[in-house]
Amino acid sequence: MIMKSIGKIPHVSQKCERTVWMPLFSPRQINCVLTMQFSLNSFLDYVQARHPHEPEFHQAVTEVFASLVPVLEKKPEFIRERIPERIIEPERIISFRVVWEDDEGRVHVNRGYRVQMSSVLGPYKGGLRFHPSVNQGILKFLAFEQVFKNALTGLPMGAGKGGSDFDPKGRSDREVMRFAYAFMNELFRHIGKDTDIPAGDIGVGGREIGYLFGKYKKITNQFTGVLTGKGISWGGSLIRTEATGFGLIYFAQEMLVSRGDSLKGKRCLVSGSGNVALYAIKKILEMGGTPLTASDSSGYIYDPKGIDEDKWAFLVDLKENRRGRVKEYAERYPEAVYTPANPELGYNPLWAHEADCAFPCATQNEVNKKDAEHLVAGGVKLVAEGANMPCTIEAVDVFKENGVMYAPGKAANAGGVAVSGLEMTQNSIRIAWDREEVDIRLQRIMRNIHEECLRVAEKYGKPGDYLFGANAAGFLKVAYSMLDQGLVG
Ligand code: NDP
Repeated sequence: MIMKSIGKIPHVSQKCERTVWMPLFSPRQINCVLTMQFSLNSFLDYVQARHPHEPEFHQAVTEVFASLVPVLEKKPEFIRERIPERIIEPERIISFRVVWEDDEGRVHVNRGYRVQMSSVLGPYKGGLRFHPSVNQGILKFLAFEQVFKNALTGLPMGAGKGGSDFDPKGRSDREVMRFAYAFMNELFRHIGKDTDIPAGDIGVGGREIGYLFGKYKKITNQFTGVLTGKGISWGGSLIRTEATGFGLIYFAQEMLVSRGDSLKGKRCLVSGSGNVALYAIKKILEMGGTPLTASDSSGYIYDPKGIDEDKWAFLVDLKENRRGRVKEYAERYPEAVYTPANPELGYNPLWAHEADCAFPCATQNEVNKKDAEHLVAGGVKLVAEGANMPCTIEAVDVFKENGVMYAPGKAANAGGVAVSGLEMTQNSIRIAWDREEVDIRLQRIMRNIHEECLRVAEKYGKPGDYLFGANAAGFLKVAYSMLDQGLVG
């Protein structure tokens, strides 16, 4: 049965055992008819029409639902209860004005957001990003990814993401403080230790979390675990700073071990030089691998001798304390080559070096089809995402066609939010675990995610497909929980 009138709401016909799916817009989109079978193209048309001008969000939804087709075909109850439409619709989006004053007394106006995506597994949980590229669509893509990632950790966390188009780069500490205070002046009324617990992301590290937490405490007169990534002396967890990068490399090690191999002796390409990249590099070193590269938005360094412990300490001081540029690494270590970023090239030469493993840890869509072809030509056998969605769909296709082991960010970079979950637990029971305890728990969580991805992939006849395994395992957990909680789930 195909209904052709425009503007009717979706409708489920129990009698004919069919779901007639009537999205709201053009005749093309009206072809969204589901007979207990999931139609990917119709669904994606619906997403395009309902969430226009949000390319990153469309990309994330496409990547997830393209792999979920075999799951949805087996579960008509998910279609009947409209789980696909529900899971992509944020429960709530808050958008607000942030006005602050710079050191010269000039007034600036930024926009702040919090996308509260899903609370079906627990309070909203996910980072805040301060970067000029931030907009609602980017935060929706990140919040959507967070739904699956948080589910995979096995911890009781829902999903959210937030941030602002404020650019902290080049700003003084006082300016960042005034911005963070102004941001929290509005955000505080929407978050809470049992409601929504933000953390860091691009442009939001320990300094920013400190200012945000201080302001929250001042306004509410409450010292609670409302943010994670806090300083160790005021409620933070050991290993939280390292967690995303460490977890990424633990996951990669599991992937290699499952094939009778290990990171020992592997040459590794890493992009970024922020929180995720720095601690990925550190853990690669600890595991006996050789990190060859690091980057920022201005360019990248390639060190043919490898980034060793001393060079790593230089990088950490450069990026975390002096907030300098990666170029200075090549000035300090002449064996390294610095290459400035050149977007006109159409590819990033960082990915064209010969190596065994690649860890994109900077930002979304930093690895395109051409980069993926270079990685394959350069001998790379494993790609694990430290950043969120750093590889385009076309790049992932290249990995698949060439038998490269590929782990999506929602599985491979889940260590950060996992230790945030552990920070919440420590805050709730008013105890601080030691370093070893947190690290063991992090390793266990990454191992469990790895096993779960492989188990679900195997069950659906896709052995070794981490992308499918991560999407399906995360989705199934969330979807069944939504069914349990009825239409508000
Ligand atoms: P940071 O701000 O600490 O570092 C980001 C790094 O990426 C910097 O080196 C930055 O360079 C570079 N970068 C950012 N944007 C661009 C761009 N458009 N082009 C080129 N380089 C860019 O962020 P994180 O390390 O925390 O986050 C990195 C990625 O990891 C993001 O995708 C984030 O969502 C994801 N992630 C982070 C987690 C965390 O716990 N922090 C957890 C899970 C995922 P520059 O300084 O020049 O801007």
